[in-house]
Order: sequence, then structure tokens, then C-alpha cells
Amino acid sequence: MEDCIFCKIIKGEIPSNKVYEDDEILAFNDINPSAPIHVLIIPKKHVANILELKGDDIALIEKITKAIQNISKELNIEENGFRLICNCGPDSGQEVNHLHFHLLAGKKMGPKIIS
Ligand code: AMP
Ligand code: ZN
Repeated sequence: MEDCIFCKIIKGEIPSNKVYEDDEILAFNDINPSAPIHVLIIPKKHVANILELKGDDIALIEKITKAIQNISKELNIEENGFRLICNCGPDSGQEVNHLHFHLLAGKKMGPKIIS
């Protein structure tokens, strides 16, 4: 989709530090990390958010899950773990309207995920 930052990253029009890529999924480092490891996992197909993931596209959740499993192995965070966040809509503060999962790791997380 035009004017979508993440679609531009997928097309290579905006640079990114790729962590994982397959035919349908891309993962790259967040430009403004909130933890020592902060990776964004996105489908290559433009879907605005999880509510817009419908029909056959729901299968992308399985692909994202498999990508996260690969990434956690690659980054050696399987044992210590990580936090996943998926913002959806205005109250969540979603800024980029292209479905993405934040994977945060590399430190002990606080007990709260809301502020
Ligand atoms: P959200 O608030 O859930 O929409 O998160 C969007 C995330 O995208 C934020 O954590 C931003 O730091 C990140 N972000 C925005 N532009 C870029 C970019 N060009 N490369 C990597 N991450 C980005
Ligand atoms: Zn997009």
C-alpha cells in the first residue's frame, strides 16, 4: 500500500535491519527500541491490524508464529523468554497501520505492560 512505511520497508524503499524473512513474513529491528532486543514481525501483505485479518489471511498468524519461533532460536532468547505486543487501533497507540508484532527481549521486563 502506498504511504505505508512498512510496505516501503518490504519493497526495499526504506532500509531496515532484517532479522528474518520468508515468502510471506518479514522481521526487522525497531528503529526506536524499547528493549535490548526489539524486533517487529510483519506479514508482507498489507493488513491494517489484527481485526482486518480475515478469511485465508488468518493463516498468516500461523506463519508469524513460526517466524517468531525461528527468531527466538536465532537470537538465543528461547530460555530467557520475551514479550509480544500487538497494538490495534487508537487506544493502543498503534502508529503504523500495517499489522505488526513487537518482540521485546534481552532484559527482565517489568510487571506491567500498560501505562
Ligand atoms: P506501533 O505503535 O505499535 O504502531 O509501533 C510502530 C513501531 O514502528 C514503533 O515502535 C516504531 O519505532 C517503529 N518504526 C517506525 N518506523 C520504523 C522504521 N522505518 N524502521 C523500523 N521501525 C520503525
Ligand atoms: Zn503496509
